[in-house]
Amino acid sequence: MTPVIETRALGKVYAAGTPAEVVALRDVDMRIDGGELVSIMGPSGSGKSTLMNLVGCLDTPTSGQYLCGGVDVASLDAEARARLRLETIGFVFQGFNLLSRMSALENVAMPMGYAGVPRPERLQRAREALDSVGLGDRAAHRPSELSGGQQQRVAIARALVNRPALLLADEPTGALDSRTGEEILGLFKRLQASGQTVVLITHDPGVAEHCDRVLEMHDGALHEQPSRHAEATP
Ligand code: ADP
Ligand code: MG
Repeated sequence: MTPVIETRALGKVYAAGTPAEVVALRDVDMRIDGGELVSIMGPSGSGKSTLMNLVGCLDTPTSGQYLCGGVDVASLDAEARARLRLETIGFVFQGFNLLSRMSALENVAMPMGYAGVPRPERLQRAREALDSVGLGDRAAHRPSELSGGQQQRVAIARALVNRPALLLADEPTGALDSRTGEEILGLFKRLQASGQTVVLITHDPGVAEHCDRVLEMHDGALHEQPSRHAEATP
């Protein structure tokens, strides 16, 4: 089976060759298969967001290779890369990033505008996505009329609306109290149970505990933690 994403010796150096040079990623080999719930854990500054930006086709590596659904992203021009991003990856951020003047439904429908989906289908799919995160009854509310946890669920519905192969979340519970954070993690687990591939980026070991696999970043290098299932076997 083709992995959803695969990196080979992926590297990123910021401000290369200047006194401000930062080696943010070192030879990262990572493979995520369909249906996995994986966390990428590491302290602040370890390179998590850099890796997310590369995996999300928001930035380009300085060395190594990135295959997204088997496609070598470096072989694409900017337009093809943007299309791949839109069709393959749904982003969730710590700060929700919702548009305050729009209703929940309009926020969720928005990415489909760029994908050229006709309006009636857009609204229908946005309703379904809101239903899938348990917010069908809040469609007409604006973000300011929703709790933090509800706003994050709207953002997750928006990330899902183009039916991406990968849901990529950077500190999705970072702005939430611990109980609401648990609810959001429960939602990610339900999405995985329905077949969605999910990558959670976090500095919180409590979040990583919910995942099948934990990848740890330290100083730009990525290491797989021993599987808990393997440990349980005598
Ligand atoms: P994390 O998300 O784990 O906190 P980042 O990927 O944001 O880590 O940062 C990794 C390293 O790269 C840090 O040393 C950070 O200061 C540096 N860095 C991140 N973005 C940039 C940038 N645009 N320019 C220069 N250095 C950067
Ligand atoms: Mg970060």
